[in-house]
Amino acid sequence: MADHDPECIFCKIVAGELPSLRVDEDEDTVSFLDVNPATPGHTVIVPRRHTADLLSISAADLAACNVAAQRVAERAIDRLGAVGVNLLNNCGSGAWQTVFHFHLHVIPRYADDPLRLPWIPAAGDRDEIAATHATLSGNPG
Ligand code: AMP
Ligand code: ZN
Repeated sequence: MADHDPECIFCKIVAGELPSLRVDEDEDTVSFLDVNPATPGHTVIVPRRHTADLLSISAADLAACNVAAQRVAERAIDRLGAVGVNLLNNCGSGAWQTVFHFHLHVIPRYADDPLRLPWIPAAGDRDEIAATHATLSGNPG
């Protein structure tokens, strides 16, 4: 895949062909406000080079996006009064990804904001966890 996909809305934002409210940029990344913010200051961090998702992004661009996310997170806490930040990446349409140019969501959190975990924490089945561990690690235990 070329660095720029002419059909991709985030490539168009990086190239300045579509408007965005940029909050940060460097040689490798651009960060701009999400048009559908989960909370005030919700920012999308993208690599300048087009790549679809977490599985295809280069290690260098992934690192650059995370460092940019750290800058944006610090600013949300210092300037917006956020009490914390959630980082989110959706990888694949089955995991809510809708724009197929890798991005990190930086979601500032505020006291009493309405966001909740998308799952209900509960104790897992120990045998199932052990079986999953064996599959994922390649170590039958
Ligand atoms: P995802 O569902 O993880 O792929 O997230 C895509 C995000 O991009 C969503 O939160 C959208 O609100 C956001 N988005 C889509 N188009 C734009 C745009 N033109 N400017 C800013 N954010 C956008
Ligand atoms: Zn793109």
